[in-house]
Amino acid sequence: MIVIEGCAIATVDAGGTEHADGHIVVAENRIVAVGPGPYRGDASVTTVDGRGCLATPGLVNTHHHLYQWATRGYAQQEILFGWLKELYPVWARLDAGIVHAAASAGLAQLALTGCTTSTDHHYVFPRDGGDLLAAEIEAAAEVGLRFHPCRGSMDLSEKDGGLPPDSVVEDTDAALAATKDAIDRFHDRSFGAMVRIAVAPCSPFSVTPRLMEEAARLARAEGVRLHTHLAETVEEEHYCKEVHGCTPVEYAERLGWLGDDVWLAHAVHLDPAAIAKLGATGTGVAHCPSSNGRLGAGIAPIRDLLDARAPVGLGVDGAASQEAGELGAELRQALYLARLRGGPAALTARESLALGTMGGARCLGRADELGSLEAGKLADIALWDLNGLGHAGIADPVAALVFGPAAPLRLLLVNGRAVVQEGALSTVDTSAIAGSLARAARGLR
Ligand SMILES: [Zn+2]
Repeated sequence: MIVIEGCAIATVDAGGTEHADGHIVVAENRIVAVGPGPYRGDASVTTVDGRGCLATPGLVNTHHHLYQWATRGYAQQEILFGWLKELYPVWARLDAGIVHAAASAGLAQLALTGCTTSTDHHYVFPRDGGDLLAAEIEAAAEVGLRFHPCRGSMDLSEKDGGLPPDSVVEDTDAALAATKDAIDRFHDRSFGAMVRIAVAPCSPFSVTPRLMEEAARLARAEGVRLHTHLAETVEEEHYCKEVHGCTPVEYAERLGWLGDDVWLAHAVHLDPAAIAKLGATGTGVAHCPSSNGRLGAGIAPIRDLLDARAPVGLGVDGAASQEAGELGAELRQALYLARLRGGPAALTARESLALGTMGGARCLGRADELGSLEAGKLADIALWDLNGLGHAGIADPVAALVFGPAAPLRLLLVNGRAVVQEGALSTVDTSAIAGSLARAARGLR
């Protein structure tokens, strides 16, 4: 058993319960108690001194492209379409070694910034590239994060009116077969699963309607979730209107891609009807504020989506459009963007923390296992150290975490295991990972 005590606790449960000074008890991979004051049970347990710290649920990253850690810093002044066109030919040379190096780096950075569960949306599978999904799943097991790789796909190339070149798209049937294979090999349906697969054709301008429809049928037959990019840019909206005669959300609806088993990356350009539809269908949104800023894509209407009761989580997005890859920092970015759009009352610090925790758990269909600190849930816990220069003197610990600079972690538990201790990873060697990443990036360039 592990007992964390002496810390402030923001449980992010349905009632917003907080303790100014409380304790959390962990047995194996579960939380068994959360409460105020010191722990008064068995004295032989391992105790973590949480004084000056804030315990929150581990953060959930709802959108990423880990392979992009090997292609950071490209296309620095481009909008999405120009950025993609510069990067597609580079990504055509990916292989399993590069993906392992990039995924290790991206996941290590996520763990160091409070993330305990991450998705990944991998949609580039060059012929002869090797087993890319297995490579990133291996990296997640080494770093120690709970992992939801989304088997992406693209089957609409330039010659058929899409954006990507032939070199990075797959045949429709081959993509569907490989997706089914990924579910058979890796998807774990059990409570507390460390790996779950989602079905994830890439975007309206790189995927045929047939692949979208058949992917949705496959996912529902297998009981796995659906993920894709939608309504990210004005250019995508123009594309949908021109090619399909409707908005991106109407297009998704037509293809069977709205529902409480779907979450969409970005959802920036939404009219009121689209917001109402996402809310009514329980379709989730992965909000990626830094990526939207880097590509100048726009500001997602997060306040309106929350008011419409759509699940909203946070995502760092791929590191080629968000070189920092820090999930903790997205709490502040989300708050800033919401306020730039809707004024200072548009999002509170506690609402931002809820996006990064329970909102993400809802997007992944795991609200009964993750996203809040409650007895019975999985022991995915971030213990943020607020003793230092960046946070000292801020009376409200949640405000310190969200408004302040990125806080170091005294402890990060994933499934009850200490993945970060005193600000450093205890599972992998970050300098070795940085070395492999630099070699992989140089090789691609
Ligand atoms: Zn993305």
